[in-house]
Amino acid sequence: MPDSEYTRIQLPSVDSLLSLPAIIALAAQYGRRPTLSAVRAALDEARTCNRFDATTLPEALSRTLASRQAIGLVAVHNLTGTVLHTNLGRAPLADEAVQAMVAAAGAAAVEFDLAKGRRGERDAHVERWLCRLTGAEAALVVNNNASAVLLALNALADRKEVPVSRGELVEIGGAFRVPDVMKRAGARLVEVGTTNRTHLRDYADAIGPKTGALMIVHPSNYAIQGFTAKPAPGEIAALAHQHSLPFIDDLGSGALVDMAALGLPAERTPMQALADGADIVTFSGDKLLGGPQAGLVVGRKDLVEKLRRNPLKRAMRLDKVMLAALEATLVLYDDPERAVQRIPALRLLTRPAADIREMAERLAPAFAAAVGQDFAVSVEDCQSQIGSGALPVDLLPSAALVARPTAARGKGRALSRLAAALRALPRPVVGRTADDALWLDLRCLEDKAGFAAQLKELRP
Ligand SMILES: *Cc1c(COP(=O)(O)O)cnc(C)c1O
Repeated sequence: MPDSEYTRIQLPSVDSLLSLPAIIALAAQYGRRPTLSAVRAALDEARTCNRFDATTLPEALSRTLASRQAIGLVAVHNLTGTVLHTNLGRAPLADEAVQAMVAAAGAAAVEFDLAKGRRGERDAHVERWLCRLTGAEAALVVNNNASAVLLALNALADRKEVPVSRGELVEIGGAFRVPDVMKRAGARLVEVGTTNRTHLRDYADAIGPKTGALMIVHPSNYAIQGFTAKPAPGEIAALAHQHSLPFIDDLGSGALVDMAALGLPAERTPMQALADGADIVTFSGDKLLGGPQAGLVVGRKDLVEKLRRNPLKRAMRLDKVMLAALEATLVLYDDPERAVQRIPALRLLTRPAADIREMAERLAPAFAAAVGQDFAVSVEDCQSQIGSGALPVDLLPSAALVARPTAARGKGRALSRLAAALRALPRPVVGRTADDALWLDLRCLEDKAGFAAQLKELRP
C-alpha cells in the first residue's frame, strides 16, 4: 500500500499530555506512575487504530485508572439468609466498634499504660471486660479461635497426650480439623469412646502418665442424634481435676448472652463452661459474640499466664484496630439488653419475621420494576440460618423477595444473569438461587433506602 493512501495521524507527545491540567489532576489522585502508563497505553492504542481524540482522553484515562485502583474488598448486602456468613465477613460490627476502629487507626494506646506513663499489657483493655463479663480470673485474645485452640494445646499439652471423644473430632468450616490442630500444637490425640457414645470411664481409661489435658470440642455444625451419650462437662472437669489435669473447653461460638431467652437455639456460654469447671475456655469473636475476628481465651490465671508467655502468642497477637473493635463490642455487653439492640448479629438474629415481611412487601414493587418483564417477583416465607458453626437445622423464619424467570426455557441462564447483575451493583447484592428462583432473604437488610436507591442501576 503506497504511503499516500494511508495517512498516519499526528499524535501528541507523552510529556505534552502529562502537562495537561486534567491529566495532572489524575496523576495527583492516582499517582504519577500508573497515570504515565495509562497515557502510554492510550497512545499505543491510538497508533494501532490510527484514531485519537484529545477531548475524551482524560475521561477515558480516569475510567481506566479508577477501575485499576478500585478496592476489591467492598461492602455487600448479605441477603443470602445466612447471618454469620464466613465468606461475607461473619459478624457485621456495631457502630460503636466501627468508631473505635477509626479512632485506633492512628497512634493509639495499644500497649501503653496512660495512667503510669509506661509500657502496658496489649490485652489489658479487653481482658478487663472479658473477666468482668464472664467472671473469669484471667483472659487473653489472639487472631481467631483456631489460634486460641492451637495456643492452648501447645502451651498446656506439648508432647503430651490429650484424650478427646471420637464424637468431637470434627472439621469446622474448611481447614479447622481437631486432629490436625492437635498435631500442629505438638499434642498427641488419644481418641476415646465412639462416634455416637462416649462415657466418663472412656476418659478415665485414657488418662496415664503422659496425659497433658482433657478437652471437649463443641461439635458446632454437626449433630449426633439417636443412640448417643456423653458425660456432662462438669463430670469431665471433675475427672481432670482428680488427676490434676487442666480441662479445656472449646466452645466455638461462645455467646455472651442467653440465646434461648432471645428465642434462639440454646448455646452454652463461657460463664456456664467456667461454672462447669473448665480451666481454659476458647471461643470466637466474630460468631454469636458479634465482634471482629478474634480468638478469646478465659480461665484460670496461672494457665492463662502460661498461654501468654508462649512464643506462639506473639505470632498470633491481635492488631490494634481489632482490639479496639473487640473492646467496644464487649463494652456493649455491660448491659445485655443494649447488646441485643446495638450488636448487629444479635439484632438481626432476633428480628421478627413479620417486620422482615413488611419490609419485603414495601420493596417488592421497586424490585419488580428493576428486574423487568423477564422475572415475576413475589414476597415469600423463607428460613434464615445462623451460620458460622451453628447447626444448619436451627432455622429462623424470615421473608424474601423472590424473582422467578417467566420464560419456560433457559431459567438457569436467566437466574445466573440476574444474580450477576445484582453482584455488579455499586454495593453488590448477594442472594441465593434455589428452586428455579433467586431469593433475597431480607433478614440482614438494614439499609433499606440504599438498597432501593441502587435498584435503578440494575441491568439484568
Ligand atoms: C468456629 C470454631 C472454631 C474456629 O474458630 P475461628 O474463630 O473460625 O478460627 C473452633 N472450634 C469450634 C468449636 C468452632 O465452632
